[in-house]
Amino acid sequence: MKQIDIEKAMPILEREVKNYQVPVVDLIKAQTNEPWKVLVATILSARTKDETTAAAVTRLFPICKNLHGLRDLSVDEIAKIIHPVGFFKNKAKYLQALPDVVDSLFNGEIPDTVEELVKLPGVGRKTANLVVAVAFNKPAICVDTHVHRIMNIWKYVKTKTPLDTEMALRKKLPAKFWIPVNRVLVAFGQSICRPISPMCSVCPLNEICPKNGVTPRKEENSKVQEKLTMKGLKLMSWNVNGIRALEKKGFVDVILKELPDVIGIQETKAQEDQLSDAIKNIDGYNSYWFSAKRKGYSGVAVYSKVEPINVINGLDNEEFDKEGRAITLEFDNYYFVNCYYPNAQSELARIDYKQGFNAAILAHCDELRKTKTVVLCGDYNVAHKPMDLANPKRNEMNPGYSIQERDDMDKFIAAGYIDTFRMFCPEPEQYSWWSYRFKAREKNIGWRIDYFCVNEEARERVLDADIRQDIMGSDHCPITMWLAK
Ligand code: SF4
Repeated sequence: MKQIDIEKAMPILEREVKNYQVPVVDLIKAQTNEPWKVLVATILSARTKDETTAAAVTRLFPICKNLHGLRDLSVDEIAKIIHPVGFFKNKAKYLQALPDVVDSLFNGEIPDTVEELVKLPGVGRKTANLVVAVAFNKPAICVDTHVHRIMNIWKYVKTKTPLDTEMALRKKLPAKFWIPVNRVLVAFGQSICRPISPMCSVCPLNEICPKNGVTPRKEENSKVQEKLTMKGLKLMSWNVNGIRALEKKGFVDVILKELPDVIGIQETKAQEDQLSDAIKNIDGYNSYWFSAKRKGYSGVAVYSKVEPINVINGLDNEEFDKEGRAITLEFDNYYFVNCYYPNAQSELARIDYKQGFNAAILAHCDELRKTKTVVLCGDYNVAHKPMDLANPKRNEMNPGYSIQERDDMDKFIAAGYIDTFRMFCPEPEQYSWWSYRFKAREKNIGWRIDYFCVNEEARERVLDADIRQDIMGSDHCPITMWLAK
C-alpha cells in the first residue's frame, strides 16, 4: 500500500482524539495563556506522564507567581516540588537557571522562535517546537517519537530520526496540520497506535494505513475497551485450577473488575454443594455448573450476565460427562461452549480418551454451527504449533504436544474453526499456562493451551482476542475474546 492519504487521516484522528484527555501543556495554555507556564510545563513533561506533570505544575505555579519566582527557589527546593517527574534533578537545575538566561538573552520575554528557544536551558528542538505551537500559536511541527514513528508507519516520510522527520514534514505537511499534528499523534500513539502493540483491529485508519513495518497486536487499554464494549460482548475463559482455592485469591474481585459478559471456567474441582454463596451468586451474574462425579476433580462452569435460552450439560456421552468436561449455553445469536479437554497424561496413557473427546467436541460444534455462531473456549490441553510453547523440541512426545494431539488440533482447524488469538497476534512466546515449578511464569517458560475458537462463518464477528497474563491466581491466566453483538 502506498503512503497514507493525510487529508483523510488527520480529520479522522482529530475526531477520534477529541474526547481523549487534553495534554497537560495544552491545558495550561487554555487555562493561563502565559508562555512561561507553557514553557515550564513542556520542560517538565519530557519523559514524564501527563498526570505527573500536571501534579508537579499544580504544586509549582502557586509558589512561583511568575518566571522570576523560580530564581527565588533553590535547586533542591524546585527538585522537591517537581519530584517525581522524570530527570527531576536536572530539570530543577534548568528551571532555576531559566529566569537569568531569559533576562540576559531575551530581555525577560520568552522568545517565540525555535532557534531562540533552543538557547534556553533544558529546551531541545522538540520542546521548542511545542512551545512555539502551543504558547504562541505559530506554525511549528513538534516531532516526538510518536510523530516520527507514525509518519513512517504511514509511509508519509521515510526518515531515520525525529529531526529528519521534522525537516521532511516542513516540506510536505500541509500548514493546517502543523500545530495539531503533535497533539493528535501523541494522543493516538499513546492509545491506539502504540509503539509495541498497535491496536489495528480497532483503529479508524485500519483500511487506509499502509502499516509499514508494523506487526499489529492488541492490548488492554481503556479507550479500546470502551470501543469494544460498544460493539461487542466480552467473553472470557479461565482454567481456575480449583475454584475454592481461587476464591481465596480474589476470583470474585477479578470478575467484578473485568465484568465479562460471559466467562467459562474450567477445572473447578468442586461439586455445587461445596461452593460458597459468594461464588455461586456473584452480583449481576447467573452461574451454571457442571461438575465431575468424582469429588475435587475436573468440572466446568459458566457465569453470564444475561440468562441463556438454554443450557446443555455435557456432550450426551456418559464417558466424558461423568468428568464434567463440557457445558454449552445457548444465546440469541451464538452458542458459548466451555470445555476442559482431558490431559493425555504421562506416556500418553489417556491419549485414546482424549482423542475420543476431541472427536466428540468437534461433532458437537459441527451440529451447533448449523444454526448459529459457535464460540468454543477453554483449556484445550494442547499447544498447537512450535511457537505455542517454550520448548517444542523437548516436548515432542509429551502430553499436550504429542503428534496425535497436534494432529487433532489440525483437523479441528481444517474443519473450519479459527484460533482467534492468532487473528491478532502472530508472535511467539504468548503463553496461557506455566508450571508452578522452576519460576516458570517469571521466566515465561510456558505453553499456550487455552483457546477461543469460532466457526469460520463467524470470522467477521471476532473483534479482538487476547491473553491476560496480568491476571494471577491460577497456573493458567484468563483469555478473552470480543464477539460482535
Ligand atoms: S494502529 Fe495500525 S492501522 Fe492504525 S495507524 Fe497504527 S499501524 Fe496503522
